[in-house]
Formats: sequence, structure tokens, C-alpha cells
Amino acid sequence: MAEYDYDVLVIGAGPGGYVAAIRAAQLGLKTACAESRETLGGTCLNVGCIPSKAMLHASEYFEAAGNGTMAKMGVVVEPRLDLSAMHGQRRDAVKQLTGGIEFLFKKNKVDWKKGRASFVDAHTVKVGEETVTAKNVVIATGSSVTPLPGVEVDNAKFVVIDSTGALELPAVPKHMVVIGGGVIGLELGSVWRRLGAKVTCVEFLDEILPGMDGDIRKEARKIFKKQGIEFRLGTKVTGCTVKGKTATLTMEPAAGGAAETLEADCVLVAIGRRPNTDGLNLEAIGLELNKRGQIETAHDFRTKIDGVWAIGDVIPGPMLAHKAEDEGIAVAENIAGQTGIVNHDVIPSVVYTWPEIAGVGLTEEQAKERGEVKVGKFPMMANSRAKTNHEADGFVKVIADAETDRVLGVWAIAVPAGTMIAEAALAMEFGATSEDIAYTCHAHPTHAEAMKEAAMGVTGKPIHI
Ligand code: FAD
Ligand code: NAD
Repeated sequence: MAEYDYDVLVIGAGPGGYVAAIRAAQLGLKTACAESRETLGGTCLNVGCIPSKAMLHASEYFEAAGNGTMAKMGVVVEPRLDLSAMHGQRRDAVKQLTGGIEFLFKKNKVDWKKGRASFVDAHTVKVGEETVTAKNVVIATGSSVTPLPGVEVDNAKFVVIDSTGALELPAVPKHMVVIGGGVIGLELGSVWRRLGAKVTCVEFLDEILPGMDGDIRKEARKIFKKQGIEFRLGTKVTGCTVKGKTATLTMEPAAGGAAETLEADCVLVAIGRRPNTDGLNLEAIGLELNKRGQIETAHDFRTKIDGVWAIGDVIPGPMLAHKAEDEGIAVAENIAGQTGIVNHDVIPSVVYTWPEIAGVGLTEEQAKERGEVKVGKFPMMANSRAKTNHEADGFVKVIADAETDRVLGVWAIAVPAGTMIAEAALAMEFGATSEDIAYTCHAHPTHAEAMKEAAMGVTGKPIHI
């Protein structure tokens, strides 16, 4: 009889956990995955990446039909919003994709243990009423919305909501105030603006999209402002009262000053996410959290406790699905005795607005702190495909080491920036120079040619500008 029920028990079936479980099973390890949600796929598939992209994609069509973009190309339509059909296609996408993970679990013989998991000791975990033992336990419990003191979220009432509520609104708000000018605020704020809401974004810092390249942050705000989002930068929300369907927010300058109020029929709280560790009973195994409530791991995703590993949003690093997935593959390979590595210096990030905003590697500000750099920038307005498609907003920026020409970072605002950034990530993974990108043949006419031209710009020799 085996010493343990399983070689690997993964806690959490988000993109980190389900990928780790499948890879572990592929490597011949007897694997189970504990998940308390009714469906697999975690935040990403149920209430995150996938449903938000379903609403972004559909609302993009609605806006293009109504704002003259389609008419400019000779397609004249008078759009009418069928919000319940829009929600229907979103729910359908979620159902199909979460069902797909269930199929993959069956196919790979991963046992789904339904219920909340809690440690008894490092190799024993209670999942609901069942006790499961495993030689290795991977914590992949993800993250949840960070609450804002004084602003109480109640997703059932649709007045003060978080991202989960913002995916389900039964009607278009008249005035939506988004607290937080980060990724969620801008993506979901864009959805409801396109569908007809007035959107005001209140951001604590003096610029939106912290962590991104400075030029990109400024240009992005200009574009969103042009699209109709109003920004209140350097402003903090100090409280919120709700009467019936109206919320009244009190706000003041972040640096201190006179308070003011703002009324809205919908307030979206989007000030970040925090790791999920409540209820795991980490005390039982002596695993402590860092100051940010995260589980620290070594480079191979081992925690300080023998046999216990951690990946995804619950550990430090960007809270992104593809980062969690790559860590899921790596941790399973490490458990199986292989060498699983994630290069955390090359994790692309994308904001799926219109146009999209994407980046990988260092910002210009970070790169300059490390030494001299050369920068090439190319506007989408000078890219033939973008111009022809009436998609001229944005630019591509390549940042390279002044001495070695090695690419340190790439940033883009362009309609398909999320797809374009994969090329930059691949180039950086292979240690490319800007010259390598500049002398790689890019198909014409594509938005990707702007990447080539920005790389040519590093040495001052783009052609089309
Ligand atoms: P999660 O996906 O959070 O999964 C963790 C799972 O563990 C959950 O299902 C939870 O129920 C389960 N769990 C927790 N505790 C226990 C327990 N004790 N027992 C059993 N089960 C437990 N990222 C992108 O890269 N691209 C995007 O476009 C994107 N869009 C997003 C949009 C929104 C609105 C949100 C909220 C997030 C978005 N993200 C996006 C972030 C992305 O969803 C997360 O980075 C990703 O889901 C993290 O994966 P994970 O596996 O670490 O955790
Ligand atoms: P975020 O960290 O991207 O942005 C939060 C914003 O809120 C920041 O700009 C911050 O300065 C601001 N803020 C914080 N406290 C505030 C306050 N009291 N008042 C006003 N503003 C305040 O967080 P998010 O948008 O909630 O997203 C959470 C996570 O989910 C992110 O880490 C992101 O990576 C992930 N996510 C990714 C995608 C994507 O990849 N496209 C989409 C959605 C979410």
C-alpha cells in the first residue's frame, strides 16, 4: 500500500492549480486537485480573464457600430443593445471553458476533490469531509478583491460592486464611478462606457496604470479621456453612503485638502487583489506569510516547509493567469525531479482595452536606473495597416541597452498590442538585440511591422517616418 493517497495534491483549480495538476498527471504522478468552487478554472475562467474579455469583445462591436467607425468603412447600422444576449454569450463562454477543464481532468486522470481545503499537517489536508494525504501539496489558492475601508461592496444590489458584480450588471448604469485606475478599472470601465454609461475614474496616484512605462501611462490616459472617461487623479475615496439606488462618495486630494462628494448609481471598487490564505490553516504546518500576505517560495516554488509548494497569485509577482500557468508547469516538473523554470523577467502584461496596451520587461524608467539606454519609438499612425483600419492611436517603443543593444523592454499601445507583444517576449527570452528584431522580416501589411520599425528606431533608422 502506498504511503500517501496521492503523489501530488494541488489546492485550487485556477490557471496555476489546474495546469500544475494536469502536468503532474502527464508526468506519471498520481494527482488530485481540491477546488471549492462549483466549476474548475478559478478566478480566470469564472469571474476574471474570460468573462471580462467576452464583455470587452462584444461591447467593442457595439461601440464600433454606433460611433461611426463602421460607417466610415461603408457599413451603416443602427445598433440596439440586447444586454441579456451579451451576458448570455459571456456565460456560455465560461460554461464551455470551465467544462473543458473538467474534461481535461478526466482525460488526464486528475481527481477533483470538491470542497475547501485545510491543512492538518504538511502531508494531510482536509477537503470538506474527506481527509487526503499527499507526498507533495501545491498551494494555488489565488487571490480575491482587496476591500476598501468605508466602501462596502454588495454585488447583489448592483450599486457598490467589485469586478464580479461588474460582469453581471442587469442594466447600463447612468454614472459609474470606478475607484482605481488599474487594469480592472480601465477594462470594465471601458465596457460600461461603450454600452452607454458616463464613467468617472478616481485614482489615488497622479497617473493611471502603475507599473507600466511612463510614456504608455500618459498616452493611455489621453486616449481613454478622448473616449469619454473622466479622470480624477491624485484623489482618494474616504467613504461611501448608499441610499436606495444612489451612492454618495466622499473624496479628498491624496496629498490632503478639502473633501468633496460625488454621486453615482454604480461604484466599482477595483483597487487591487490580495492573496487567498484564509482557512488554509497554515499555522498547522508552521508556514508564515510575508508582509503582503503572500507565501514566499524559492526559485523552484518550494516553500520553507518540506513537501509544500506554492504558485500563482498567492505568491509574489504579477497577478496574471499566464504567470500562474507557467509556474504550474514548472512546479509539477520540479516535483517530478525535472528542472522547471519560469523567467520572471519576461512576463508580458496586457490591458484589453481599445486599443490594447501591452508591455514586457523593463520600463524606460527602470532601465535608466540600471544604465544607459537607447529607445526607438514608432507611431501606429505611420503603420499602413493600422492607418487603413482607422486604428491610428498608439505607438510601439523598444528599449535597448546602449552598449550591448540587448532589448530590455518593449511597450505598445495598438489595437492588437496583446498579440504583438508575444514577439517581443520571444525575442527577449532568446536575448535578442534591437537589431535582431529590426532585421527580422515582418509580413506586410501588419501591425507587427510597427515593432520592426520601433526596433529600427533604436539606431535612428526607421523607414516610414
Ligand atoms: P485563481 O484563479 O484565483 O484560482 C484559485 C482557486 O483556488 C479558486 O478557484 C478558489 O476557489 C480556489 N481556492 C482558494 N482557496 C481554496 C481552498 N482553501 N480550498 C479549495 N479551493 C480553494 N489575468 C490575465 O493574465 N489576463 C487577464 O485578462 C485577466 N483578467 C482578469 C479580469 C478580472 C476581472 C480579474 C478579477 C482577474 C483577471 N486576471 C487576468 C487575473 C487572473 O485571473 C489571475 O491572475 C489568475 O486567475 C490567478 O490564477 P491562480 O491559479 O493563482 O488563482
Ligand atoms: P491594479 O493594481 O491593477 O490597480 C489598482 C489601482 O487602484 C492602482 O492604480 C492603485 O493606485 C489604485 N488605488 C489603490 N487604492 C486606491 C484608493 N484607495 N483610491 C483610489 N485608487 C486606489 O488592481 P486591479 O485593477 O484591481 O486588478 C487586480 C489584479 O488583477 C491586477 O494585479 C492585475 O494584474 C489582475 N488583472 C489583470 C488583467 C489583465 O491582465 N488584463 C485584467 C484584470 C485584472
